[in-house]
Amino acid sequence: NRHWLLLDRPKGGNFSEVLSLREAPAPDAGEGQIRVRTVYLSLDPTNAVWMQYDSYLPAVPLNTTMRGLVLGVVDQSNHAKFKVGDIVTGMGGWADYTVADGASFSRVPNIPGLPLLAYMGPLGMTGATAYFGLLDIGKPKAGETVVVSAAAGAVGSLVGQIAKLKGCRAVGIAGSADKCNWLTGELGYDAAVNYKEKGWQKALKNAVPDGIDIYFENVGGEITEVALSLLNTRGRIPFCGAISQYNSTEPGPGPRNLSVLVSRRARMEGFLVLDYAPRMAEMYAEMGPWLAAGQIKWKVELDQGLENTLTSFDKLFTGGNTGKLAVKVSDE
Ligand code: NDP
Repeated sequence: NRHWLLLDRPKGGNFSEVLSLREAPAPDAGEGQIRVRTVYLSLDPTNAVWMQYDSYLPAVPLNTTMRGLVLGVVDQSNHAKFKVGDIVTGMGGWADYTVADGASFSRVPNIPGLPLLAYMGPLGMTGATAYFGLLDIGKPKAGETVVVSAAAGAVGSLVGQIAKLKGCRAVGIAGSADKCNWLTGELGYDAAVNYKEKGWQKALKNAVPDGIDIYFENVGGEITEVALSLLNTRGRIPFCGAISQYNSTEPGPGPRNLSVLVSRRARMEGFLVLDYAPRMAEMYAEMGPWLAAGQIKWKVELDQGLENTLTSFDKLFTGGNTGKLAVKVSDE
């Protein structure tokens, strides 16, 4: 059982200095437990937070296996709800095998015509984040303008497409010309702005002639400030994440124009996808048919081999991934 041990708290994104790949015999499932063989390991920006400090989940204890979301196959079961061969997803580790009680895993539904990998992307945790964050927190109405940051990533690439299906104008902010072309050329975004190009603030203003009704926040920092400046009266900001801050050694400056929320009677609301676990069936029911009909396009950037997890993980912070980042650990 290869597993990544967390030896120290990372600083400034020095993940390779604090994680080490070790090998030990695979543990057996105990009473009431299951053992899951990892097929796909999800790599998520929040993993960097779990390595550093207590937040909505406790920090990963030092000298234990790094925590991660896995999609895999039950290969031992002492639990009435699971049998060997079940395809499950849940909180596991950066490891070949996870032993867990039944509560932290659930079986994935079998929607005909969709590959297993879909449950790592649009029908997985990041799909639910985009779906509930936009619809439940953002409450889009047809004709509104939705702007999303980290738009070519796992969550962002879905937010704009769901917004389009709800009759909105979708504008993405992403870090390269290729990503912007993917958004407008393949995913149906109405416009995309490369925030690494000089003058992007003006380009964003031009891309939202009617202002911004919903800004889906993935990034934080300067992008938040610019989005706030363009926010319409009664605008909404589903606050999904702030990846630009996760590896900061000091807290970044807050948006200087936060009081826009007052003058424009706008609302900024944080949310956690974990809270939507009881409502996953709603997401499957609407997203499943969209995917099966090709109305939502998706990509999983799949790197190969548990041993390459760290090289892969860095991509989240350098912009190296397009779509959902995951590692293939074993065969389906
Ligand atoms: P992505 O697939 O979007 O990957 C991260 C992307 O963020 C990178 O590809 C990069 O793209 C961009 N990025 C990295 N650093 C910066 C920076 N300093 N400034 C601007 N952009 C940057 O990740 P996810 O879709 O998994 O996650 C997106 C956000 O959603 C994160 O903030 C994450 O924490 C949050 N999240 C929140 C959840 C919740 O329950 N609230 C659940 C899941 C995710 P680029 O090339 O465009 O720079």
